[in-house]
Parts: sequence; C-alpha cells; structure tokens
Amino acid sequence: MPRKKNDEEEEEEEEPRREKKAKKEKYVDAEKLLDEYLEEVEVGLGISHLNLDKELLKEILKEPFISAVGQVKSKPKARTIINRLNASRDEMMEYLAVRIVREVEIGKLTDDQLEFLVVNIKKPIVDLAPQLYAEAKKRGRKDLIDILQYNWNLFGLRSPVKCPRCGFEAVMPDYSCRVCGYSLSTREIKEAVNLMSQLEEMYSYDPEGLKEIITSGYLIYLSTGPVPPSRFNPSNSEIFYEITLTSQEKAQLNRLYNIHHQV
Ligand SMILES: [Zn+2]
Repeated sequence: MPRKKNDEEEEEEEEPRREKKAKKEKYVDAEKLLDEYLEEVEVGLGISHLNLDKELLKEILKEPFISAVGQVKSKPKARTIINRLNASRDEMMEYLAVRIVREVEIGKLTDDQLEFLVVNIKKPIVDLAPQLYAEAKKRGRKDLIDILQYNWNLFGLRSPVKCPRCGFEAVMPDYSCRVCGYSLSTREIKEAVNLMSQLEEMYSYDPEGLKEIITSGYLIYLSTGPVPPSRFNPSNSEIFYEITLTSQEKAQLNRLYNIHHQV
C-alpha cells in the first residue's frame, strides 16, 4: 500500500512538471550556450594555439556565435554552430583578427597572435598596416613583413612608387609612406621610378607629350607612367604624383628632343 502511494505520487508529480516545462519553453540563451561550448568552439575554429584569455575569447566570439545559434527553441549541438562559423571561414578569421587588434595592445600580443593577425587581416590592412608593420619589424619578423606586403598589394592602397625605407608600395600623392611614415624627397621619387629613362623613352611613342612636359617643367606620374599635365584626368581611386623637373633635367630632355627632332 505505501509503495503504491509512492508510485502515484511520482506519476502525479511528473505530469505537471512536463507541462510546465513545455509552457515555459523559450528561445535558447545563446550567451549561456557560449559559456558551455567555449572550448569546443575554440578548438573547432582552430584557434586554440592563440591561447587567448577566456574572457577575451568570449567577448570576441559573442556576436558571431549568437548569430550562428539564431533564434531556436532547442539547443543546437556545438558541431552545428562550429560548422556555421566555419562556413565563411576567411571572413570569420578576419573578424576575430580585427577584434583582437582592438582589444589587445599590439606590443603585448604573443608571436602566434601577431602572426594570426598578419595572415588574416585583408581589407582592414589599409588602416592596420602601420601598426602591424612596426611590430613585425621590432620583432625581426621578415616573414611577417613579406605577408603584409603581399596583402597590401592585394587589399591596400598600392602605389606606383615603392617606399625605399619599408619596401611597401604605399607612397601617397604627398610623397609620404602610408605604412612607415617616411617622407620621400622628389629625387627619391624620381629614382624609384627611373623617371629620366622613362621620359627619354617617351620620345619614341609620344614626342608631343614629352615636349609639353619639358615646356611646363612638370608631369603627372601614374602607375602607367608619366603623362603631360594637360592630359591628366584625376580619378579618386588612382594614386598619382605631381613631379617637378629640375632645370638640369629639362635641359637634358630638351637636348634629346632637339636631336631627334632634327633628324
Ligand atoms: Zn615606408
């Protein structure tokens, strides 16, 4: 008899509990789920070698994790979420890299973390190259500087002139290097593009243009080469330099022009 009573009690208790649970069912709390899955996600994304501080890791993963979970009522498996995060892996890694730069002082990054940033930062390299370059240089990481230069050429503001100090093609129209801050002299710009021999060659394909450059005493230099000022149409996307010739250079070109012109 007492046993039966016990059974009944259990049955009675279980029914309402189940009902209550069903009524209370709400969306999964993704932030809580992140606490639970944090390590699995770290491994699943292949970033555990970065040894990021757990709080930092949580902070930078929060946003993508929550959107990968979505609004669901039943708890998704860690693997499902990881697969979603890895679906656009390049963007995901770049997002994490940019978040790390913002959260951690660059001098305090471990070598692994610095390498992760250098490898994964693509488009934001326009803004982040100066810091990343300075740090890679300080640590003597030529290999990382090579990667930065490669990414700069693909995603940065590639310029027709290479900076003689840092080697980045990052010399802006005001002759300053966007990456290392060095200011080039007019002479360095001319040397970097081998200007005089380009102008001498110009006689063979555009003598009129050359004549105009000699007369006006300056030219516009683009990635395609020198152009006379009257033919230059500035477009926002293109890096150009206005280069003034010295009187000696003008005389030299004039001589060349006259010799050919007389023939
Ligand atoms: Zn430079």
